[in-house]
Amino acid sequence: MRLFGQLIVSLMPITPRFFIRWVAKRYVAGSDIGSAIRLMKKMSEEGACFTVDVLGEEISAMDEADFFIEEYSNLIDSIVENELDANISIKPTALGLLIDPESGLDNIEKLLRKAAEHDMYVRLDMEDHRVTQPTIDVCLAMHEKGFRNIGVVLQGRLFRTLSDIAEICAVTGNHTDFRICKGIYLEPENIAYCSYKDIVNATNDAIDEMLDSGAYTAIASHDNPVISHALAALRRRDMGPSKPDPRHITEPSRSVGKGPGYEFQFLLGVRGDIRRKLSEQGHRTRIYIPYGTKWYEYSMRRLRENPEVALHVAKALLMPWSNRR
Ligand code: FAD
Repeated sequence: MRLFGQLIVSLMPITPRFFIRWVAKRYVAGSDIGSAIRLMKKMSEEGACFTVDVLGEEISAMDEADFFIEEYSNLIDSIVENELDANISIKPTALGLLIDPESGLDNIEKLLRKAAEHDMYVRLDMEDHRVTQPTIDVCLAMHEKGFRNIGVVLQGRLFRTLSDIAEICAVTGNHTDFRICKGIYLEPENIAYCSYKDIVNATNDAIDEMLDSGAYTAIASHDNPVISHALAALRRRDMGPSKPDPRHITEPSRSVGKGPGYEFQFLLGVRGDIRRKLSEQGHRTRIYIPYGTKWYEYSMRRLRENPEVALHVAKALLMPWSNRR
């Protein structure tokens, strides 16, 4: 099966774009804000909430950041106008953090300020290890400026993650709000766990540490051993649907669009069955909604990242009715 998946992945570069677009429909909301809003309205019926990502990554010239600032600004307005339970996820390198850190920080602050006007939360997606510390520094700098609507993603696979949790919590206290994931980037073995088992164990340790530190914890994984661990970890701490967070988190901003101290997050189109089940059990579930004209690059990355996706592609081809998000 795996070989079959890899075969499909290797054929992707020569596959017609219209076919990739058809497959990508499951993983990407569309190419513009309107399509993301329509999809969220529809999916709200499933009891989910959202975080929205404008597709695109590292820019090569500072003026390219203007596009992202304008697009995210319009997105914030549209989310508010349509009264959606949604926030935004941004990539610091798309706003110039690697080219000109000071201007990158200003760009992020502009969006943060606009989101704060609407009490909207902003998640800084975590990219590869070149920007781990700069991204954390942005979060801490914005906290120092008084913003409380920002948080980072930490990656279980990195050796540094447990100490990052402590460092961040020491500064942001009971406003700390993390997303924890395994980490999508294949990092060198001197800084990261590389085997599946080690990555799962490290991610689970990070979940425990976040919960024990009192931080709001967004668990972003489709993997059963991580989800089951998180559910057991929550139960042990008497946390769960409709229960008040027992860890003395009382900040009002925390409760806007948030769960009782934790939530589960899923990528659009991936393991909707598990997400719906968690949601039915009362857990807050958030769907990461990517949209934008860079749908082709995003889809290719998803495919390279996980050749198993190719099996979903084959299934969608043979049984188009099964291509459900
Ligand atoms: P895996 O073991 O990869 O997946 C478990 C199972 O889920 C697979 O066997 C497969 O059946 C299914 N599956 C997984 N991925 C897909 C897919 N794309 N399509 C179809 N089926 C799939 N990484 C970062 O480095 N930085 C971030 O900021 C970041 N943000 C994220 C936000 C969200 C909401 C999520 C869910 C993930 C995010 N990630 C991020 C990616 C994450 O780090 C992992 O690379 C990714 O989630 C795959 O790991 P997994 O834990 O889901 O487990």
